[in-house]
Amino acid sequence: MLVGRHAMSEQEIREQLKGNYDRTTFYRSFKTLEENKILHKIVVDPTIVRYAIDPEVFSNPVHAHFYCEHCKQVLCLESVPVAKPALPEGFAATASELIIKGICKECHQS
Ligand SMILES: [Zn+2]
Ligand SMILES: [Zn+2]
Repeated sequence: MLVGRHAMSEQEIREQLKGNYDRTTFYRSFKTLEENKILHKIVVDPTIVRYAIDPEVFSNPVHAHFYCEHCKQVLCLESVPVAKPALPEGFAATASELIIKGICKECHQS
């Protein structure tokens, strides 16, 4: 079963993209990457912000995220869809986020 992809911190994303982008371009384009859906931002809480970079993730753009309280990893759970909430009339949703906190499989086994 596909468990999910690890999301990365901004620092880790920078390391990954090193070589493809020079520093200044990268700072300017970080927002662009987000806007162009090359990466997506996952806010667990104001101190824990992660980014997932993988175009494949967007085959299922709305998916749940899992935050492991033990190893502090954030995973994209592509196989876990987020149900569209039934909003009152006149409300329009632009984003819906589901972050599940708990213990991941790897931590559970050790
Ligand atoms: Zn874990
Ligand atoms: Zn994700």
